[in-house]
Amino acid sequence: MSTGPDLVGILHSVLRFRRVGREAILEFQNRHLRRLVAHAYRNVPYYRRLFERSGIAPEDIRSVADLQAIPITSRADLRAVPVQDTLARGVNPRRLIALRTSGSSGEPFIVRRTWFEERLQDLYWFRASHYFGQQARDRAASVGRRHEGRFSKRAWDRRILQALGFYRRLHVDCCMPPEKIVQILSRYRPESLGGYPGTLSLLAETVAASGCRDIHPRLVIAGAQVLTRRMREQIAQAFGARVYNWYGSRELNCIGWECKETGEFHTCDDNVIVEILKDGRPAGPGESRELVGTALHSFAVPFIRYRLADVVTKGSETCACGEPFSTIRDVQGRVIDPFSLPAGRFLHPYEIIGVIEVMSDEHAWIGRYQILQERKDSIVLRVVPRVEPTHEEILRVETALRPIVGADVEFQMILVPEIELGASGKFRIAHSLVSACRDESDREGEPADQAAGDAATGQSTG
Ligand SMILES: [Zn+2]
Repeated sequence: MSTGPDLVGILHSVLRFRRVGREAILEFQNRHLRRLVAHAYRNVPYYRRLFERSGIAPEDIRSVADLQAIPITSRADLRAVPVQDTLARGVNPRRLIALRTSGSSGEPFIVRRTWFEERLQDLYWFRASHYFGQQARDRAASVGRRHEGRFSKRAWDRRILQALGFYRRLHVDCCMPPEKIVQILSRYRPESLGGYPGTLSLLAETVAASGCRDIHPRLVIAGAQVLTRRMREQIAQAFGARVYNWYGSRELNCIGWECKETGEFHTCDDNVIVEILKDGRPAGPGESRELVGTALHSFAVPFIRYRLADVVTKGSETCACGEPFSTIRDVQGRVIDPFSLPAGRFLHPYEIIGVIEVMSDEHAWIGRYQILQERKDSIVLRVVPRVEPTHEEILRVETALRPIVGADVEFQMILVPEIELGASGKFRIAHSLVSACRDESDREGEPADQAAGDAATGQSTG
């Protein structure tokens, strides 16, 4: 039995998914799941032990419906065992591409893949970007973090493509001042632009303020952080382009991309089996719960029923637009965890964001904003006003938000001239200084690489 991704099967699925239909995608999932489970049991000590402890033989897992028998694995579970135990037998870790993610605890977690696995993932990202309208010969730019060495020695395939004029990309470091980034982009004149929503909206502001007219991509692809409706409008307006959103993670890779008709995410069903679970049981359509994913084509270090710690809303079995993919209605919980409040209460910043979004039609003065939890019982909303608001306008927003925050928490809205980026160059729409609370820093550097860097928006970052 071969113990690697099935290139022919994947190519077939990626190229012909529209013609194969839903049935074939489900059959593809089952077939590749059986292959992955048999491999993990036979070759990966961590999963061998997990299966044996739970009394599961690989033959018990015939289809996605059987998946629930396998216990869920978290990042902490994988960290707790020696790296060697998470690797497939015979794989030399030194030959793998290592993708580092930063953890809030300061302990890094490294996702490892073979060069081949990494390239296969490009197919899925390319498929999504082509769906958005990107063309192979486009000049693309991505504004993201530089991460060292990822492709520098191994990117010969990409270099060849670039030399031939395909998938050209300029990578721009998002930690540079926005004026400088705008200057670089003005010279490069990208036909497609990718990046973190926070960075893109900051650039949009800079472009709008400077009156710069030189950056006109056909499309903008945002990912890796919450893209609010306002951010989307702002980016679309400044660049005169359509804005799309996609969704992935280091561990599970391409998870979904926005449907152009419905605005939901098409799940990348032929790449990852997505389960949306509430207390271990499948959530119903419209319910927002935790995402657990199985990466169908990761063999060197498998991720089977891996808890991503993202909250998403379940969509439908197939998309209303006619594509054969299931949908994720919304991705809201990622990168922001609930604020831990007094008396064991939790508040998800998304609740505040939701109200601001609704109010912002009426309150056009609200520019960029950030929700900051300073103490367990103190939350500050920092707003960069577009124009000076009246006292009554400020009061109306405060009054709308105070009940959400609760009486036992001090709430204050302050106007600031600007909101600085985080140390990594990312903008955080919500941020907690309460130490026990894991905030978005934990997820920095994960899906961002797809959104801002590596995949179809561009090219090598090495
Ligand atoms: Zn659709």
